[in-house]
Amino acid sequence: MLRLAVLGHPVAHSLSPAMHAHALRSLGLPGTYEALETPLVHLADRLEEVRREYRGVNLTIPLKERALELVDWAAPEAKAIGAVNTVLSLEGHLFGFNTDALGFLEALKAGGIPLQGPALVLGAGGAGRAVAYALKGAGLEVWVWNRTEERALALAEAFGLRAVPLERAREARLLVNATSVGLNAPEETPLPAELFPEAGAAVDLVYRPLWTRFLKEARVRGLLVQTGLPMLAWQGALAFQIWTGLLPDPKGMEEAALRALEGVR
Ligand code: NDP
Repeated sequence: MLRLAVLGHPVAHSLSPAMHAHALRSLGLPGTYEALETPLVHLADRLEEVRREYRGVNLTIPLKERALELVDWAAPEAKAIGAVNTVLSLEGHLFGFNTDALGFLEALKAGGIPLQGPALVLGAGGAGRAVAYALKGAGLEVWVWNRTEERALALAEAFGLRAVPLERAREARLLVNATSVGLNAPEETPLPAELFPEAGAAVDLVYRPLWTRFLKEARVRGLLVQTGLPMLAWQGALAFQIWTGLLPDPKGMEEAALRALEGVR
């Protein structure tokens, strides 16, 4: 019996239980996926529980960075990004991974969003680092902007990118909102309307609401757009593959997440 969970604080509104319950069902695997409220100060104790009783867990805000220090082994991409979003617990050892970066790329490919630069990543938090790492690894020219400039400069230096002022958005061909602006705030956007480019694509990592102001403004300007749900589904599917060796259908997981988001079970 597979025992899986998501750890976070707060975690009650996570869409992961719905997505992973769908994955277990669709693959016919007996197992459970719980949401475990885990404040940062309790993460070390919680991971000891995971070591003894679980096959694996996902981690969300605010645990990803600290988890990197607590696992027994971390994958190269988790070390580079500085965050672990997936832990595999096997024979008493904890292995840390980051599926956000590859999940982001796979979601773009599946959604027909062209991988073309320059790509401007808005945000230099955990999600911004994962996206920048992914796009740089895909060979794109990557620019980064962050409200707190020092964090943009640090990310640019770490990955060999350029930190740019927000006005450079007009020249980008791929815009990614990896800030939390717009989260539960439908009127807020990280990018003023006049700074959108005339062509290209825009992706928002925020999925609550699904159609953020950032995406709506990109759409009316004729840009290709993608919400945060495909990435959420892909990072989850890749985590599931790490735990079980089986890749569930990300589209089905995305639909399950959408139903949970809309409150329909
Ligand atoms: P962090 O807390 O690590 O980073 C938050 C980022 O948002 C920082 O760059 C911060 O800038 C910026 N920010 C916050 N408030 C403002 C503001 N008012 N104006 C401008 N910038 C602001 O969070 P994460 O990186 O982990 O997550 C970011 C978003 O991505 C969240 O909404 C999260 O839900 C989403 N996400 C979605 C995923 C998906 O699968 N779709 C996966 C992972 C995350 P500063 O440094 O200046 O504080």
